[in-house]
Amino acid sequence: MTTRPEIKSPPFPADTVSVAGAETGVLHIDLDALVNNWRALARRVAPAECGAVVKADAYGLGIGRVLPALAMAGCQTFFVATPREAAEARALDGRARIFVLDGLFPGAADDILAAAALPCLAGLAEVEEWAAHARRIGARLACALHVDSGLHRLGLPLDEVQRLAARPELLESLDVVLVMSHLAAADDPADPANAAQLEAFTLLRHLLPRAPASLAASDGLMLGPDFHFDLVRPGYALYGGQAFRGARAPVSPVVSVYARVLQVRDVQPGGAVGYSGSWRAPRASRIATLAVGYADGLGRAASAPTGASGGSVIIHGARMPIVGRVSMDLITVDVTDCPVTVARGDVAEVIGQTLTLEAVGADARTIGYEVLTRLGRRMQRVYAGGGA
Ligand SMILES: *Cc1c(COP(=O)(O)O)cnc(C)c1O
Repeated sequence: MTTRPEIKSPPFPADTVSVAGAETGVLHIDLDALVNNWRALARRVAPAECGAVVKADAYGLGIGRVLPALAMAGCQTFFVATPREAAEARALDGRARIFVLDGLFPGAADDILAAAALPCLAGLAEVEEWAAHARRIGARLACALHVDSGLHRLGLPLDEVQRLAARPELLESLDVVLVMSHLAAADDPADPANAAQLEAFTLLRHLLPRAPASLAASDGLMLGPDFHFDLVRPGYALYGGQAFRGARAPVSPVVSVYARVLQVRDVQPGGAVGYSGSWRAPRASRIATLAVGYADGLGRAASAPTGASGGSVIIHGARMPIVGRVSMDLITVDVTDCPVTVARGDVAEVIGQTLTLEAVGADARTIGYEVLTRLGRRMQRVYAGGGA
C-alpha cells in the first residue's frame, strides 16, 4: 500500500515521517514557510519592491509550485536565468514581470518576446541586438540594463556604459525599465567590495537614462537600506538559506529531506565499510545503511574515511555520523551510540530544522546553494501549505 506521508506542521521530527512504499525518501517543501519568508523580506525592504528569483527550477524546489505561491502572496516580479525558464514562468503566470538574468543569447530575441519577458542586457552587443530587433518589429522594446559594478561576470563595464550613453539612437529603441548590478561579496558585511560596488553602481546608473534600480540579492538586502534601491532580488533566502554572515536573515527553513533506513548490521572491530574500505570500525559497531546518496544531491565530499569527519544525519533525535564513502544511492551511518535502537524502516533527517542547508553544505565542502539546487530529484516530493 502506498500512503501519503503524514506531515503536519514544522518542525517535523523524522520519527513522525512515513515514507511511501516505493520511495527512498521524502523531499518536503513548506510553501507556507516560503511565502512567510518572502513577506518578511518584503517588509524588511519596504518601500522598495521585493521580487523573487526562481531560476534553476526555483533552486530545485519546483517553479510550478513556488511561483504561483509567491504570486498569490503578492510578488509581481520574478527573475529567471534563461529564455527557456522565462517560458516556463510565463506559462504559470500571465501577468507577472519576468526578467531573464543571463541576458540576450545571440538569436534569442524571439524566444524572450514569446515569453513576454525582459532581458537583462549585459553588454553593448546585446543592447545592439535588442535595439535592432526593436527596429525590425517597429516597436520600442522593454529591457533591463545590467551594469558591471565590480563582479566582472556579466554586465556593461564603464566604457560600454559611456559608449551607450553617447548613442541616443540605440536608447531610443529601448524602454529601460530597470538598471541593475550584482554584488560579489555581499555575504560578508565587512568586505570593502560592498561599498566600492555601491559607489560604482551609483555612478554607472547616473550615466544612463533615469530608471528604477536594483543591486541586492538575499545577502545584499541584509547590508541595509543603502543597498535596496527600488527592487531587491532574493533567491536563496526565500528558500530558507542563511548565507549572510552579519546577522540572521528573517527567514525560516523551507526544505526538509528524509531518507529511510534499509538495513542495520553489526561490524566487527577492524571491519571495513563502504567502497575501498575507507572507514574501518574502531570498535564493534552498528552500521545503518540509508537510501540516499550523491545521486540525491548529498555531496560525495561528505564521506568520512577513518579519522576524518564528514556529514551526519538525525535518527531518533540523535545526530549520527556518516562513515565511509557516500555512494550513488546509499550512505552508511554509525548508529552504535544512538540511544534508541535503529531498525529497518526507520526514517532519518538528512536536511531539516537541525541539519541546515549551511551545515550540510559545509560538511560536503560546498555551500548550501549547491546542496539545495541538487536535491532529491528521485525522492517523493511533498508540498505543504501555500494554498496547496
Ligand atoms: C542568482 C542571482 C540572484 C539571487 O541570488 P541569491 O543569493 O540566491 O539571493 C540575484 N541576482 C542575480 C544577478 C543572480 O544571478
